[in-house]
Amino acid sequence: TTATHASRIHVLDPRLTNQIAAGEVVERPASVTKELLENAIDAGSRRIELDVEQGGARLLKVRDDGVGIGEEDLPLALARHATSKIESLEDLEGVSSLGFRGEALASISSVSRLELISNASDDPRDGWRVVAEGRGMEARVTPAPHPRGTSVSVRDLFFNTPARRKFLRTEKTEFAHVEEAFRRQALSRYDIAWVLRHNQKTVHQLPPGDSPAARERRIASLLGKNFIEHARFIEREAGALRLSGWVGLPTHSRAQADQQYFFVNGRVVRDRLVAHAVRQAYRDVLYNGRHPVFVLYLDLDPDVVDVNVHPTKHEVRFRDGRMVHDFLYSSLHHCLAHTQPVAENFVGE
Ligand code: ADP
Ligand code: MG
Repeated sequence: TTATHASRIHVLDPRLTNQIAAGEVVERPASVTKELLENAIDAGSRRIELDVEQGGARLLKVRDDGVGIGEEDLPLALARHATSKIESLEDLEGVSSLGFRGEALASISSVSRLELISNASDDPRDGWRVVAEGRGMEARVTPAPHPRGTSVSVRDLFFNTPARRKFLRTEKTEFAHVEEAFRRQALSRYDIAWVLRHNQKTVHQLPPGDSPAARERRIASLLGKNFIEHARFIEREAGALRLSGWVGLPTHSRAQADQQYFFVNGRVVRDRLVAHAVRQAYRDVLYNGRHPVFVLYLDLDPDVVDVNVHPTKHEVRFRDGRMVHDFLYSSLHHCLAHTQPVAENFVGE
């Protein structure tokens, strides 16, 4: 019987191995959004547009004006473990691009109908389209004109993995997650112009601008005027560590920890050490159960932080965690100690 009969060992076909890998990183439309936007950033784009239909379950399309992919490289773009971003272990250890695993497009295209169109030249009549076909996911490349840059369309996410599709929530909920993924990327690069549309309606249109005023305008449009009116700009340096951003004052705490953005070298992370340092710094100025708001950027030498901890790269490991923790705590503590509403009122009267 089948129960006792040993199966022969065989190598799984590429589509199946990619679908298995997708289980780790492709959870919902928002995870696809993150990967596609990161690729567009890594390509050096100046303008990135995201079109969403039905919360992303029907369509996610990212169009960028980055370097594009040459015809010779296109067959590899959708292949697993194929990347242009690192070549060696040394590269990995000092990696500054957002991607490096060479897995996202392979994983996503194994669980959706993915089409990539790209042009690496300045002639808008050039351009190629690639899709991965069949169980072997063979690349099929055909001509398709496109201005310099890349468009990736992901249709019908999880159409072939019903178990996954069952976990998709309502259009409204999925779009809220997609918008959050967009918000994080838009807060990571002020020099890039961003557009987000849902069902053909413009949700965000963010012009580029690196000046403090332009940054504050972007934050206000992504997180609300209230945020920026109750936040204090911070900028501190210690050795190779640099912290900057906006620290919410105790006058604008929230019931949920839903407006807390911490970027390490341009990448949003959720890190326990960072969370602890922040909590400590706010401990004396916030009521119990209230959550601070902040948008903070920590920049440090890529060599002293390991981003290859988890496939989603939401976690990092600092070489000297203690030092990072103390720097964060003292910077925030110092900033908050001088901006307490009590002290301000006292001075004002
Ligand atoms: P990774 O980003 O880890 O390298 P991906 O699967 O996300 O892996 O992408 C594979 C490769 O396809 C990238 O290394 C890059 O060379 C190319 N690529 C993907 N998206 C873009 C894009 N928007 N513009 C230019 N090249 C891209
Ligand atoms: Mg990538």
